[in-house]
Amino acid sequence: METPAFLDRDRPDVPDLVVPGGVTPFYLKGRPVRGRMVHLGVLADVLLTRHDHPAAVTRLAGKALALVAALASALKFKGSFSLQIKGDGPVSMLVADCTDTGALRFYARTEEDALNTLLAETSTPTDRELLGNGYLALTIDQGPDMERHQGIVEIAGDDLATMASHYFATSEQHACWLFLSCKMTDAGWRAGGLILERIAGEGGTHVVGDADADANWETATILASTLSARELLDDSLSAPELLHRLFHQEDLHVSQPRALAYGCRCSRARLVDVLQGFSNDDLDHMAQDDGQIVMNCEFCNIDFRFPRKDILSRAEQD
Ligand SMILES: [Zn+2]
Repeated sequence: METPAFLDRDRPDVPDLVVPGGVTPFYLKGRPVRGRMVHLGVLADVLLTRHDHPAAVTRLAGKALALVAALASALKFKGSFSLQIKGDGPVSMLVADCTDTGALRFYARTEEDALNTLLAETSTPTDRELLGNGYLALTIDQGPDMERHQGIVEIAGDDLATMASHYFATSEQHACWLFLSCKMTDAGWRAGGLILERIAGEGGTHVVGDADADANWETATILASTLSARELLDDSLSAPELLHRLFHQEDLHVSQPRALAYGCRCSRARLVDVLQGFSNDDLDHMAQDDGQIVMNCEFCNIDFRFPRKDILSRAEQD
């Protein structure tokens, strides 16, 4: 059995934080609608402030975290859901992933000059201005026994929610309505989201005609779009409370909420294992003048240091 992360003494000094009601699934009975409301709560602040990005990049990253948290909660098996965006904009790479148990992490790579130029023009660039032109990929990895599923689309639209719904419409032929938000509040950074998915009848107890289904879907999206960022990111408003405000006339059923947690699995033991896969020659090259090999976890923004003399290449052990 795998050691639970909080017992793993080998982990770097990162927070062990769990937000119990992070994702709240729900459905509208008799309507082709199911959804998830995501509240990262204090986890947003903890994850986002590990990185030294300007606020505009932090907002984008927070929305990406809310998105993968919502999508991973639909995984039926052990695995992870990962979002990767690669573009020619100042944020050249954005990676966020979430496991079936709600372990979340992200990193963003930025091109400093291009980012400074953009931020000199506006302090609130759109997601598109940050990312530029490129590709968005979503990957579902459910372990070695299951086929890895990956879909890729071109970046389309001005904000991440539009890019993601474009992905579902083109790559998965699946109608999705999304609202994502991340802001600095009095309590620190907060991020959240609301996602509606159109499903084929199985959410309700009776089958409705197509015209009814279209009308029900439209009603649900209109009601959902009345949710404000201020409400979504307010710690004092619970997901069931907000969902009730939006959908109380739509036969709302709220399911058991799921936890979200600080989710990087990097550890010294894992990195030693990686280093031992190299030849002694390679290890010598990696070592700095002070005899240390430095490995970086981009998700945790932490450097791990290993004395070169302590690492024995597996190739030389045989
Ligand atoms: Zn890490």
